[in-house]
Amino acid sequence: MKVAIIGAGISGLACAYTFEKMGISCDIYERKHTIGNLFSFGELILQVMHRPYKDPLSFLKSQLRIPVVPLNKIKKIIIKSLNKKTSIEGDLGYILERGQGQQSVENQLAGKINSKINFNINADYRQLAASYDYVVVATGNSMIAKQLTEYADIVSSRIKGGIAIGEFDINTVYVWFNTMYARSGFGYLVPLSRNKASIILVSTYTQKEEIENMWHTFLYQEKLNYEIIETFETEMDGWIAKEHKIGNIYLIGNAGGFLEPCFGFGLVNSLETGVYSAQAIVKGENYEQKIGKIVDKVNKMADFRRVMDNMRDKDYDRFLSIIGNPIIKTLIYKANLDVINYLHTFIKILKKPSE
Ligand SMILES: Cc1cc2nc3c(=O)[nH]c(=O)nc-3n(C[C@H](O)[C@H](O)[C@H](O)COP(=O)(O)OP(=O)(O)OC[C@H]3O[C@@H](n4cnc5c(N)ncnc54)[C@H](O)[C@@H]3O)c2cc1C
Repeated sequence: MKVAIIGAGISGLACAYTFEKMGISCDIYERKHTIGNLFSFGELILQVMHRPYKDPLSFLKSQLRIPVVPLNKIKKIIIKSLNKKTSIEGDLGYILERGQGQQSVENQLAGKINSKINFNINADYRQLAASYDYVVVATGNSMIAKQLTEYADIVSSRIKGGIAIGEFDINTVYVWFNTMYARSGFGYLVPLSRNKASIILVSTYTQKEEIENMWHTFLYQEKLNYEIIETFETEMDGWIAKEHKIGNIYLIGNAGGFLEPCFGFGLVNSLETGVYSAQAIVKGENYEQKIGKIVDKVNKMADFRRVMDNMRDKDYDRFLSIIGNPIIKTLIYKANLDVINYLHTFIKILKKPSE
């Protein structure tokens, strides 16, 4: 069986790793000179997003056979809106490294595979589809999917981030909601070590020329007076594809619209769809069926995103009051409820007309 994978990001690498475990070596094409993100940052896996699994990393390891080692556990999240602040404590999830560092998720995966990675090749999916039995598209963007299937754009975000030098609690993450600099997005701080943290602003519906100003407003408003090094800018779009297998072409990770469009969580979905595509191809299984639950979750989060796009600072204050309420906290964080399935009800409460 001849398989080509376009993109050596986390979904493409997870796919290649799964193929190899089933005895198939793939040809991977990567347009850059190296794997993974060129800039370093911290990513989060939040347990609440992956119910009913109690531990998303154990799920990845035991069910998908993708072992990923995190930097640290998240024990506390401090969330601030314009006039409210709340904090949540417990076993909330994990912090992972992305980028060129040795512990990054991409480098962890690359260290496990033997498939050849052909660097500096901007692969053409049509040519590959003609010469390979299967092509897995793992390009991290919507370009190929939008030529192959119906789709719906959900959200567009511009992102600016950097590494802050200072003193940090390695288990505490901060999140800020403020429409002045993030619109319907947010800012967050993820500790990478005791003296380094990744600070990221995700500002929705923002033009390239606006982001610098938003970034400085964010740092100033939230008193993030750190020395900031290694800044980066990028964009991230949330969208939904109608089909994820078109002929002998499989769409995975962000290239399949599996980035959750409300908060931008895509790491676990990327690994999962990488694994499921390889399994579906080798075992002749129905890929759309295998990814059904992920598609359903992404669709639900798209509904939440549509609501979030209309929220004002008052609404964020109200949202924080709700999630800070001790009873709600117990329900959300201790009872292991499948929160996303209850999210629609949540949204209705939030959307009470504000005076
Ligand atoms: C700043 C930031 C913060 C994030 N934070 C979180 C978080 O906290 N939690 C979370 O769950 N998710 C987070 N995400 C989302 C998560 O990183 C993505 O969902 C995930 O990386 C997508 O993986 P992927 O393999 O689909 O794409 P990518 O990792 O983007 O990899 C795609 C690869 O394909 C290559 N490529 C593209 N086109 C071609 C071509 N034609 N030929 C050859 N190669 C090609 C690219 O060079 C790249 O290496 C964040 C994303 C960003 C940008």
